[in-house]
Amino acid sequence: MINRREFLFSSALLAALPLPAASKYDLVIKGGRVLDPSQKLDRMVDVAVRNGKIAALQANIPAADAMEVLDAKGRLVTPGLIDIHAHPRPGELPPEKCLAAGVTTVVDGGSRGASGIQDMIDVANKAPNRVRVLINVSKLGNVTEGPGELTDLANVDVDAARAAVSRHRDVIVGVKARLSRNIAGQNDLEGLRLAHRITQPFGIPVMIHMGDTISSLPDILALMRRGDIVSHMYAPPPHGILDDNGKILPQVLEARKRGVLFDVGNGRNGHITWDVAQRALEQGFTPDTISSDLNGAGLTDQVFDFPNVLSKFLMLGMSLDQVIARGTINSAKSIPALKDLGTLRPGAIADIAVLELATGDFEFVDNLNAKRTGHQKLFARAVVVKGKRWTGLA
Ligand SMILES: [Zn+2]
Repeated sequence: MINRREFLFSSALLAALPLPAASKYDLVIKGGRVLDPSQKLDRMVDVAVRNGKIAALQANIPAADAMEVLDAKGRLVTPGLIDIHAHPRPGELPPEKCLAAGVTTVVDGGSRGASGIQDMIDVANKAPNRVRVLINVSKLGNVTEGPGELTDLANVDVDAARAAVSRHRDVIVGVKARLSRNIAGQNDLEGLRLAHRITQPFGIPVMIHMGDTISSLPDILALMRRGDIVSHMYAPPPHGILDDNGKILPQVLEARKRGVLFDVGNGRNGHITWDVAQRALEQGFTPDTISSDLNGAGLTDQVFDFPNVLSKFLMLGMSLDQVIARGTINSAKSIPALKDLGTLRPGAIADIAVLELATGDFEFVDNLNAKRTGHQKLFARAVVVKGKRWTGLA
């Protein structure tokens, strides 16, 4: 304890000492091309960060104003990437692998249901980036061998799933239902209805996994609501988004019109073919969000990382700005719990990706292992999470 007189004395002394000037900013990212579709911004400016937030976007911020300077000359500076469908589950895909690819927010797409959800909560609590979770409608979570998680509806426990969401409201941001015939059998529609019973008290979205279902896609879409998400939108037939003549089904267009969202979910098996994606894009049916559906096996096959998946859409003819939007602001807007992310607006959380847009010949593959060559490819070169540069990416 110090008495009042001593306190006054020491304060006076402190005020009199020449203190080193406190830096105006904790970090300044200098010299990059800032591409932030949330602000329709594509300009050479520096990005200043203070206290974990974006403090300023301004040309030529003096290096002396910063504790740390990150050189981004020749690079793109974008909001931290957001992958709304991947599987950062234990023992398979460490969230650090996502972060190393510029993904500051990753959403697990239903790896676990009510029974095993603690696994994903633990992952989220330990991850250096933001891990959020869609709880599987089935208490079993994703079952990868033998009968799928929805083949027996006794595996859906609505009360247990709701209790899990209530308990982990900060981490669980939606519900996932995989509806393909090998996973749900005849239960695709009922599985989706049960998913909505879980979300009903919380107003969180349902993400479905479409493609090769027993019910038709229009029958499934009829149950989907505004804000729900259809993943694997470019899945091949049966029950893809195209009719027999390659035209987008009218029910698909109608679903988009009433606010159902369509997501890529690249994955490795039955989720995307060049043919479907190209036909859909030719008809203007672009994705609302691009996601990787990356899991452990995807690290070395087809998916590799999120920037690789984004680059596939550059190859398919989308603009850089369109592609970055679908991995940042659109992704943030697609899930209510992420709504403040995906932007470099001053005041926003400072999640930032520094990317290289390399030119050359790059090979990309679809789920049929068909190869196509593109001429641009994105690579993550640095990443900032909540204002701090992550040093795991050398
Ligand atoms: Zn998935």
